[in-house]
Amino acid sequence: MPARRSAEKPYIGIIGGTGMYRIDDGESERGMQIGKFGGKRVAFLPRHGVGHSIPPHMIGYKENIQKLDDAGVSRLISTTAVGSLREDYRPGDLVITDQFINMTHGRDDTFFHDKVVHVSTAYPYCSELREVAADSAKALGYRFHESGTVVVVNGPRFSTRAESKFFGSMGADIINMTQYPEVALAREKGMCYLNISVITDYDSGIDGKEIDQVSYEEVNRVFEANMEKVRTLLSDIVSKIGNERKCDCGSSLDMAVKG
Ligand SMILES: [Zn+2]
Repeated sequence: MPARRSAEKPYIGIIGGTGMYRIDDGESERGMQIGKFGGKRVAFLPRHGVGHSIPPHMIGYKENIQKLDDAGVSRLISTTAVGSLREDYRPGDLVITDQFINMTHGRDDTFFHDKVVHVSTAYPYCSELREVAADSAKALGYRFHESGTVVVVNGPRFSTRAESKFFGSMGADIINMTQYPEVALAREKGMCYLNISVITDYDSGIDGKEIDQVSYEEVNRVFEANMEKVRTLLSDIVSKIGNERKCDCGSSLDMAVKG
């Protein structure tokens, strides 16, 4: 009866970022939680550990993706807190990320160390799930952006003004410390990856505007104020995601260049 057993596996996974540490009010556990959310069985992982104890550069990105893969997850949703690099991407807005620029260093970002595999990341975020997310956000009446390029920096410090200006000029809309290598690793596993970002601040400022420097307390305050919104949105998205995929994320490895 292997088919029957695998049907019970959660095919949807959620990686919760800053401000999201569990999917229900049940007891908090270390590691992965499998529970009901949006009417489905979902595997949930708090990216920073329970109680937000792991900093961005120390997160076990590979371990997290492997754990979700082992659990049977093929469609992964992540939430992140981000800073905005543009005035029209305002604190409190949601962003359905569609591109990344990696500026992190020293992170293990591939499962392929013993053979040559070049996975395409031209379109790293699942187009099908992004559409579902946009429809849900629209129906719920939230302020959101259908696309956005995130620059991922190593952290844990926040940017200088010069860096912030530079990131904006190279085409990034938002800035974060955790989406890379998570998104790339998920792609190596042939998973769909959807990211919902919550803008908490204007990073180190927008040119020509007097904006207070970002603080960790402020990031948490705005994120927590928006958590209910994110949970409602995630729950709606999960309820609409089927097991059958219309996207090509699952064949990312078939199309990879292998040596
Ligand atoms: Zn997909």
